[in-house]
Amino acid sequence: MAVKDVMDALRDVVVDNSRLSELIKDIKLIGRTLEIVYRLPRKGLEEHMVEKTREALERVPDVEDVKVRFVDDVPAQPVMGSPAFTRRRVPGIKHLIAVGSGKGGVGKSTVSANLALSLSKLGYRVGLLDADIYGPSIPTIMGIKGGKVHVDHENRIIPLEKHGIKLLSIGFLLPSEDTPVIWRGPMLMKALTQFLFDVNWGELDYLILDLPPGTGDVQLTLAQNVHMGGAVVVTTPQDVALADVKKAVAMFKEVQIPVLGVIENMAYFVCPESGKKYHIFGKGKVVEFATSYGLKILGSIPVDPELAETSDLGHPLVESHPDSDVARAFISIAKLISDITERR
Ligand code: ADP
Repeated sequence: MAVKDVMDALRDVVVDNSRLSELIKDIKLIGRTLEIVYRLPRKGLEEHMVEKTREALERVPDVEDVKVRFVDDVPAQPVMGSPAFTRRRVPGIKHLIAVGSGKGGVGKSTVSANLALSLSKLGYRVGLLDADIYGPSIPTIMGIKGGKVHVDHENRIIPLEKHGIKLLSIGFLLPSEDTPVIWRGPMLMKALTQFLFDVNWGELDYLILDLPPGTGDVQLTLAQNVHMGGAVVVTTPQDVALADVKKAVAMFKEVQIPVLGVIENMAYFVCPESGKKYHIFGKGKVVEFATSYGLKILGSIPVDPELAETSDLGHPLVESHPDSDVARAFISIAKLISDITERR
């Protein structure tokens, strides 16, 4: 029995206009005991949902025990001082889109850069802000390492520009790559907020914000203080990455930032000789995760040596090989994001 069978069974049960499968926040199978955490669409539904769950799972073999828990999902009423009142819009920016991940190394910066370029290819005016204080890699990927920023007559930072994208990286502020993390933490947190608001971004359709991985203070501070149009999360199909990306999704939900969808990176590898697809890190896990959280999969990017190489060389793939399959995949993700955000 797999979690998928459980999901299939719960998909058929509708409670308060939602399928049970869409209400799952977390699901675990330990031996023959299934633990489900639901978000509660409305108070008072608990008993009914437990009953319906048990009923549906009678049809699934091998589940002996079902434990159900609930988390409240009634949106908090905004009160003075809550994010709804204090979040500031970045002047001149139509859509600010955060790119987050649960773990480092899943390709968040690679995706952010290629997404920014794809939106630019679609004709939008785009900026890219690298807020990853633990490993600012956008300067390398965009080929602008060692860049120095200046200020205008109003003392606002002037972003650099490369491949048609306005760029700022926390890396431009660090005295050297070896700057200790202790200096990076609290001091740069303040700098980051300044980096958004005291910048002469001009008029932009999209500002892509490459967040640090995880759900620490930096992400929360930004999410609570800055008006964001939405977030996308990047994950690889490995269990360790998926476990952490769930926390990132929960964080965005908690601070009421809409998660526009999931980008599956390193989804598979296509053998150049045979053209055969290998799902190195497993197949179907990201779909399962997205379904259980009610999220859209915006696209899947394969493991691609050319993507890694062009990033290391500062010639990002969408710019240097715009007709490659992987570049096309990025462009179609950008189209989806623009469709979703323009519709809102
Ligand atoms: P993160 O921002 O999540 O820490 P990066 O974007 O810096 O991750 O990517 C980590 C490493 O993985 C980089 O060397 C990058 O070139 C490589 N990489 C990312 N995505 C892919 C991919 N789809 N195929 C091959 N290499 C990738």
